[in-house]
Amino acid sequence: MSPRALRYLWPLPVTCIALVLAGAACLTGGQCQAVDGVLEVSGGVASRLLRQRSAAAMTLGHVVFGRTRECLEISRPHERVHVRQYERWGPLLLPLYWLAGGIARWQGRDFHLDNPFEQEAYNNNSQPPE
Ligand SMILES: [Zn+2]
Repeated sequence: MSPRALRYLWPLPVTCIALVLAGAACLTGGQCQAVDGVLEVSGGVASRLLRQRSAAAMTLGHVVFGRTRECLEISRPHERVHVRQYERWGPLLLPLYWLAGGIARWQGRDFHLDNPFEQEAYNNNSQPPE
């Protein structure tokens, strides 16, 4: 199996869940586009869910959700780091992310900004959320 295939296979369980959400987004007026091997989804129910979480974009496996297409473009460098993290950690990224954020919060720091997975993404010259 090629290294490229493994990069997609390892996070596939998370990507499959994301594809269901992407389908729901498309059925509710959202848009999907493939960009550099990643499915980017904006609008529809995805937009509403991100607004509830005060997030502009979110990555699940090889699917990136954005409130709008503009949000996807602005956050692309940051979210691509999360895609690489999924390729490295696969489905383990979700519990590790929450564990790291929980430890940060337990230490009196911010769940999101002090999470090492987010710090890696922000160190990729992207801006922290407003
Ligand atoms: Zn992030």
